[in-house]
Order: sequence, then structure tokens, then C-alpha cells
Amino acid sequence: MAAPQKSTIDSRLESILFRVEKPGRYVGGEHNQVRKSWHSIETHVALVFPDIYDIGQPNLGLAILYDVLNQQPDVLAERAYAPWVDMETQLRESGLPLFSLESKTPLNKFDILGFTLPYEQIYTNVLNILDLSGLPLLSSERGAEDPLVIAGGQACYNPEPMAEFIDAFAIGEGEALILDITRAYQEWKRWHGPREELLKALARIPGVYVPGFYEVTYLDDGSIAHVSPRMQGAALPVQKRIVAKLPPATTRFLVPNVETVHDRISVEIMRGCTRGCRFCHAGMVNRPVRERAPDEILQAMQAGLSATGCEQIGLLSLSSSDHTRILEIIRGVYEKFKDQRVQVNLPSLRIASFSVDLMDELKNLRPGGGFTLAPEAATERMRAIINKPLDEEVILETARTIFAHGWLSLKLYFMIGLPQETMEDVQAILDLARKIKGIGKSLKGNRVRIHLGIATFIPKPHTPFQWYSIEDAQSLQAKIDLLKDGTRKSDIKMTYNPPDSTLLESWLSRGDRRLGAVILQAWKNGAKLDAWTERFNLSAWLSAFETCGLDPDFYTKRQRSLDEILPWDHISTGVSKRFLLTDLRLSQAGKTREDCRNNCFNCGILDTFGSLKPSEEEVYWGCP
Ligand code: SF4
Repeated sequence: MAAPQKSTIDSRLESILFRVEKPGRYVGGEHNQVRKSWHSIETHVALVFPDIYDIGQPNLGLAILYDVLNQQPDVLAERAYAPWVDMETQLRESGLPLFSLESKTPLNKFDILGFTLPYEQIYTNVLNILDLSGLPLLSSERGAEDPLVIAGGQACYNPEPMAEFIDAFAIGEGEALILDITRAYQEWKRWHGPREELLKALARIPGVYVPGFYEVTYLDDGSIAHVSPRMQGAALPVQKRIVAKLPPATTRFLVPNVETVHDRISVEIMRGCTRGCRFCHAGMVNRPVRERAPDEILQAMQAGLSATGCEQIGLLSLSSSDHTRILEIIRGVYEKFKDQRVQVNLPSLRIASFSVDLMDELKNLRPGGGFTLAPEAATERMRAIINKPLDEEVILETARTIFAHGWLSLKLYFMIGLPQETMEDVQAILDLARKIKGIGKSLKGNRVRIHLGIATFIPKPHTPFQWYSIEDAQSLQAKIDLLKDGTRKSDIKMTYNPPDSTLLESWLSRGDRRLGAVILQAWKNGAKLDAWTERFNLSAWLSAFETCGLDPDFYTKRQRSLDEILPWDHISTGVSKRFLLTDLRLSQAGKTREDCRNNCFNCGILDTFGSLKPSEEEVYWGCP
């Protein structure tokens, strides 16, 4: 099928849009959208978020890359998202390819398709998007005329399950890599070389992983024997790239035409975290901590609000109360915005009365929303295992302060299925939630609402828990049932991840390169939009494993031995395996480590990136 030209898409789109649920997802034209003249620009990049517009539009990573690329006079960046099922049907029935929102250009006409992969349950959507664009799904089948298909994002710290489909992965922070990749592409295009030469040039860029240049061999037991580069100059390991200083914050956010999951703009105030929670992928892979200075944050907030007319802004980080100048930031925010109708959200606060004081100042601007606390585990024993040490009294006191300061709604996040967890630890979640509800009721009466958010532990790559297996579905279900029953009796709202969807995330996050065949087969079996509970089809996946002759339990129910080569070992986050292993042993002994800003544990970050560290006056790093 020859792809229709953009003018054809524009005219035919009108006839199909009235048949879909939310046409606004597919029309673009948002305020602050960037339109450049296609023919006067050398390189055309489509930034693709492989979930629907409502989820992908507020994604900060994509917004940053859109900004960085469109600031280049010779580069144009447009956006595309996964269509919902109704739109996909219309596209397929009309023979229309998937297109960019800005110029309605078919994705196969772009030079580069850049997928953002923040989580794993969107992998089949990548295949669906390639298929809807008329592109070969396998990297090995793409030719010189096809776009270069790259991917980046948090899920790419284990790129192996998607290795067959993606030409090159950007490992680490996108701002540090996207222009190097684009320039290498431009050079190759001017030279008109074979596609292999482009891939070789990319593989020589630090932080770029071209899986086709690495061979993986397996032992008889199915574990990995070797990962070896097939090309001279291909790095082993591939070291993630970072920016030494956070680049100026993006402020020209697109204003969506339809409702999205976050109706707000965001300013990143800090990257990385030094708390060292042992289950936390983001905390391990995003080191070192780098802070944005208060005046820069305030200017970015003002510029973002003026550029969008938005009234809500999120100050993002993994642990907001740990910014060394958070009080100065919050007081500055209050002074600057006290006469404006602005609601400022400060997520990821530590459990401490200090955090309530911070929220209190923000509440004076424009009150809204509830308060969120994430103890993650309800017994001190479990909190020592996961390295989130907290006295129960501190949790209760923080809750007391929250209610005393006028909040009526409190959301509590916990995990189940953690290593060494017993039914007593799960029962303790209920007990703690009830105690907190009791405190709220004693202060505010029956208006108090408690919401329990229960996540299931998945041993993520590059964390001290990466060697563990996941708990089996039956025993997880028993824990969920206990909590469901208890919360119902106590009038506490509870949300949780069904064990089946946990399985999928575990396979995909912990899988090796052979899982590519399973992803492809599952997609052929009809799997897509897997992150949506109503669309998730477990049998499509189980049957794909069977067709491919792979055992799903091999990936999730097997405790990995400490000397096993893990599928992601050739990707380096800068944190050493030695550090992860020591931390695992400390966990097994019930021992904690304090915030490493107070006492550096030599995790490897400074050995790897220490030479990039700017002077203290330029930017604060969490590492000494
Ligand atoms: S180098 Fe030290 S301070 Fe920096 S992240 Fe690692 S343990 Fe923490």
C-alpha cells in the first residue's frame, strides 16, 4: 500500500473523525504547537508516545525533546500517539497510515521516529504504530529509505525485550543524546551511505545502544552465557549519558484540546534521589541528584503559566522535600503567585511534619486536592528491608498534622509482595490505615477520607532487589483479598494492580532478547493497549509464550543466582553491581543505609560521572 500524502490525509480525516470517540486526540493544532515548513527543513523527527494522547500529551520527557529539537533551525519535530481502538479501526478501514498531529504527515515519511518508553506495557503499541505506519516491524528488515527508529526513556535501561524492533536506544537522559543522534543521522544522510553505516555511527556515540551489533548467547539452562559486541567500537557496557546541569526548563507547553490525565504544566525542580529505597528503579537509575536553583524555578513557573494560561503547576522530583532549598522555593512561590489563581502541586513529599508545613504554604495560594503519603510498608521490619526507615510514630504524627491543618483526604501508598513479607506485614497495612483514619476522625469527624493505593512489588533491573522473583499470583491474590475485605469493613477506599497485569510488567521489565518473539506473537494474537485493564488480554500473552517455546515463569518466578549474567548487565547506570549486591545483603540482614548525601556509600556514580560535576556555585549535586 503506497502511503497517502499529507494533503490526502487531511481531507480524508474529516470523514472518519466523526466516527471516533474523542476526535480531539487526533487533530493537533494545540496552543504552542510548533509548525515549520516541511520542505525548508533538513531533518524531520516524529516524537512518538506509544499510548493514547490523553496519557502521552502531558509527558514531560516528550515535551522537553520537542522543545530541544524544534529550537534547531534545521530540525523539525512533530508528535504522534497511539490511536484508541476506534481510531485504529477507522485508519485500517480507510487505508490511512498513522500520521503526525502537526502536519498530518504519515510517520513513514519522517527521517527519525523517536519512541518514548517510560514503562513496559506499551511495547505492543510500538509494534502497532510501526504497522499502522506501513513500516517493517523488525529493525533487520528496514532499508535505507525507512526512518531510523530510536527509543529512550526509563524502560530502556533494559532494552533487550525490544531489541529486535528498535534500531538504536538512547540510554540515559534524552537531552544529553538527542542532538548527537540527530547530527549523526544528518551526516549519514548527506553522504547517502548504506543503513549499516548509520547504525555504526550511532553505536560509536557514548550512551547509544545499537542492539544489532551485540550478540547474545545462552547456556543450556536458558540463562545468558555472553553478550559480546560484533562491531569494533561498540561499547561494553553501554554507559548511560547524563546532563551535568539540568538544562533550562521547558516552558512553552502545548495546551491540550481534550482532557488529559494531568491538567497542569510541570517544572522539574530536581533530578535523582539519594534516599536509596531498594525497590525503586527511578531512585537507582536517575542518580546523581542535581537541583535546579530557586530563581530558575520561579522564572520557569512564571514563563510556563504565561505561555499556557494554565492554572495548575506541578513541581516535579522524586523527593521534593529533599531539595536543599525547598523552603526558599516554596516561600518564593507564595510571594510570586499569591495574587494569582494558581494551584501548585508538590508531589513526592517525605513523611515528616516539615512536608505538611510546605504544603500548608502552598494551600494558601489556591487549595486543592488531598495529601499523599507513601510509607510503602507498614512494619518497621519491612521498612528496614526496603530501606525506607521510619518510626510508626512519625507516620501517625504526620497524619495528625495533616488533618489538624485542614486536609480531609489522605492517600496512603503501600506495596505488597515485597521480599520476606508475611501476612502479618499485610495485616499491618490495614491496621495502620485504620489508626490513621481514627486520628482523622477524632480531629475532623466523618468527613475524613482515606484511600489506600496498593502496588505490587516487581524486582526491577538495576536495583538491589533485581535478583528476586515475583510472588506468585495466588498468594498475591490472598493478600489483596485480605486488604479488600478489611478496607470494605473500615470504609476505606482501596485501589490495586491486578496480579495479571503485574505479571506482564514483570516479564517485559525483566526479560531478555528472546522476549522480542513473544511480544511480536502477542501483538499478532491481538495484544495492544496492554496498560489499559479493560484491554489487557493475558491469554494472548500466554499463548505467545507457548508458540515461542518459552516459559513465562523463567522470567519472573525464578530467583536469579548472584553470578548469573542478567539481561541488562551490559547497560550501565553508573551504579555498580557491587554496590547493589552489598545493599541486597544489608537488606537481608534487616539493615538500612542512611541518605547517601550524609554519608556517600560509593555507589559508583562519582567514579563514573564525577569529572562532569560542576562547581557548587553553578549547580548543587547530591554527591560530595
Ligand atoms: S556517589 Fe555517593 S552520594 Fe552520590 S549517589 Fe552514589 S552513594 Fe550517593
